Parts: sequence; C-alpha cells; structure tokens
Amino acid sequence: MTPYEKLTPPKDGEKITIDDKGKLVVPDKPIIPYIAGDGIGPEVVEAMRAVVDAAVKKVYIGKKEIIWFEVFAGEKAREIYAADYSEEQLKKMDPKKIRDLFLPIDTLKAITEHIVAIKGPLTTPIGGGFRSLNVAIRQRLDLYSCVRPAKHIKGVPAPVKHPEKVDMVIFRENIEDVYSGIEFEPESADAKKLIKFLNDELGTNVLMESGIGIKPMSWANTSRLVRMAINYAFEKNYKSVTLVHKGNIMKFTEGKFKDWGYKLAAEEFPDTVISEKDLWDNYDGKLPEGKILIKDRIADSMFQQILLRPDEYDILALPNLNGDYISDALAAQIGGLGFAPGGNIGDKAAVFEATHGTAPKHAGKNKVNPGSVIFSAVMMLDYMSWVEAVEMINKAIEKTVLQKKVTYDIARQLKDVKPIGTSDFAEAIISNM
Ligand code: NAD
Repeated sequence: MTPYEKLTPPKDGEKITIDDKGKLVVPDKPIIPYIAGDGIGPEVVEAMRAVVDAAVKKVYIGKKEIIWFEVFAGEKAREIYAADYSEEQLKKMDPKKIRDLFLPIDTLKAITEHIVAIKGPLTTPIGGGFRSLNVAIRQRLDLYSCVRPAKHIKGVPAPVKHPEKVDMVIFRENIEDVYSGIEFEPESADAKKLIKFLNDELGTNVLMESGIGIKPMSWANTSRLVRMAINYAFEKNYKSVTLVHKGNIMKFTEGKFKDWGYKLAAEEFPDTVISEKDLWDNYDGKLPEGKILIKDRIADSMFQQILLRPDEYDILALPNLNGDYISDALAAQIGGLGFAPGGNIGDKAAVFEATHGTAPKHAGKNKVNPGSVIFSAVMMLDYMSWVEAVEMINKAIEKTVLQKKVTYDIARQLKDVKPIGTSDFAEAIISNM
C-alpha cells in the first residue's frame, strides 16, 4: 500500500539519507522529487531535467542516474487534490485547508523522505490567510537558510563595468524577521487590540489606525544560519563571512543578529575565525592561511559596497528582509534574474528553486530563460557532491552563452543576436558538453 494519498513513487532508485554526523549519503540512483510549478515553471523545469540528465549520463557513463519523482504544488496540485471544489467554495474555505490543497501533505512528505528536491516557480493561490506557497514550503520544512550564489557568467551582459569581480554567496535567514507573517490590517480589531496594549502597557505612541507587523529575531535562528554560512566558507575556501544588518537602528533585532553572529563564531570557531580587529591587531591586516575573517556591515552601506568593492566580499549572512533585497540587487548587477539560482536549505531537507516567478504572460511560449532553475540544479548537484556534473554543466553554459546562443532576455541586450527558445537553449547546452 502506498503511503501517499495520490502519489506513486518510482519503483527504481533509492532514497538519499543523512548519517549520524549529519552528512548527506547519496546513492548512485537517488530519487529526487520535483515540482514543475506554474506559468513558465513546467517548460524551464523540463529544460533543466534534460540538461541534468545529459550531464550525469555523460560524466558517470551510466554509473549514476537521477530518478525523478514528480510531486505537486500550486495549480497542478489544485487539479489533483482540489478537483471537487469550485472557485466559489475555495474562496470561502479556511486558509489552512486551501494551503493543504495547493501544497498537499503528500508533497511535504515526499520531500521530507527524499531530503533533496527541486522546484519551479509557484503562483500564490486565491484566498487570504497565508502569504505564499514558497514561504509555506520553507517554513513547514524548516528550510532556515536561503542560499543564493552570485557569480558572473562570461558573456552575459551586465550593467556594471566589472561584473567578474562579483563572487559572493548569500545566506539569507528564511524563517523569521518581518516575513514571519505576524501582521495586522489597519483598523482591524486585532491591530487595535495590539496597539492599545503597546500604548497602554508599554508606553509606546502608535497611531490607532496603523497597520502593524512584528519582527521577531532569535538566537536560535540566527546562530544556525551563521553556522551554516561559516561552514560553507570553509568547505568552499572562501575568505570572509560578512554579517549584514541594520543594528544601528533596530538594536534588539538586527543589532542582536550581528552580536549573535560574532558570538557563534567565537564559541564554535575560536581558532579558525577571526574578527577585523584581530586581523589588524595581531596579523597586520593579512589573513593567515586556513583562517576566515568575520566582519559586519550596515545594510545600506552594503548596497554601496557590492557596487564599489565587490571583490572584498565573499559570504554574506543576512536577516530575511536584507537578504531579499541584496540577493536581487546582486543578481541584477551580474546580468539579471534569468540566471540567478537559489536553494532553501535546512538540517533535514533542501529544496532548490528558480528565483524568478511564474511570468504568466510568457507561459507556454518556449521563450524564457531556463538558466535560473538549471543553475539551481547545479547547486543541488554540488550539494550532493556530484562535482564532475557541476563542472560539466557550468562549462557548457558558459560556452553556449559565449556562442551567443541565448534566450530573448539576454539576446535583447546584445547587438544583432537572434534569440533561441527555452528547449533550444537546453539542447545547445547539451551539445556543448
Ligand atoms: P516574475 O519573475 O514572474 O516576472 C517578472 C518578469 O521577469 C517577467 O515579465 C519576465 O519579463 C521576466 N522573467 C521572469 N522569469 C524569466 C525567465 N526565466 N526568463 C526570462 N524572463 C523572465 O515576477 P512577477 O511578475 O512579480 O510574479 C509573477 C508570479 O510569480 C506571482 O504570482 C508571484 O507570486 C510568483 N512568484 C513566485 C516566485 C517563486 O515561486 N519562487 C517568486 C517570485 C514570484
């Protein structure tokens, strides 16, 4: 009997597991659940699977293979799990029930059991109550870190003079901050109740008609994010981790993020991570081999730094909102969201995803750039330590872009270049392997 309500797992393949030291154990034929997504999702995910399968086949000559397992969320989940409900019924439904129809328990269970998954973009369904399916996936699977590498691909037009100087990886806190969803509508009974409490009991002076949101930030969530960022810096030979915050203004949330980041580094990496003060007091400003520098920058200044001195920064660890802005700014700086990958990573599961949305006006036209989800798959392969496949796809994409075989979003920024379609771009990458 299948443990799922409406899913049939593949017969072939094995599950990825995590050993007792927390390390990923990847079999030669891992089962990877994927969500095709809405809008342009299915076409970019199809292109991604073709590229990944071709690279894995070419590099491992049949020894390794990904066994894909389609699971559902968004509109496709609605067709399968909510077929019995009319639009009207859905509109009146309890928000949690709607969420379970668009993000079924089956899907969360499949990802939890198989540990590594990948997804296309999703439209947030009608009805209120929860903000986005993507946020729901991150929160329900405790994927506490949103990881977004930003590195320029040769040949991709960029708005800055030296995009090649950007090589940063963002670790954005994914669970709390103003994204925790604790927010009350202006003039609502809940907003008024909370404002009355704040004004009467805590001496604040908030206007009664205000909308109000809460910004929780904790040691628990900050410390695990910064730990992941530092471990990644060591693993990938990066030289620094920068805590990006607005602690000069929001002292007990963003300020604590900074303090806790330094505290975690001092407690858990006392011999290997050094502060800027330490660097100048004891090492004459030269980072010794094998050590990592931890520093902090105020968020507004960081927006200048990524433009003016990008080569001085490697890993950035940020609270949720700062991370959201900076990751899009960095993606734009090196040529746009079309190639920007992302992964949502926790201790027990990881979901890699395209960073753009569903672009409904382009859906079904075989036109858009599948680069974002392909590079997200590259991150996924790297996470699985299939580094040979990573290298092959990276090189093939660079070659393809340098041949000016690109989709419309890149072609329109180049002179006299005719765009190719989504599937042709995937084919061109494969032929360059
Ligand atoms: P969007 O990213 O879907 O589209 C913005 C514009 O970017 C598009 O019009 C298109 O010109 C361009 N674009 C996006 N992806 C592209 C690609 N792969 N290749 C070429 N051009 C591309 O953002 P939006 O219009 O703000 O949102 C549309 C829907 O997507 C909304 O329902 C939103 O909730 C959802 N969304 C989902 C995610 C996600 O699933 N992670 C992220 C953002 C938005």
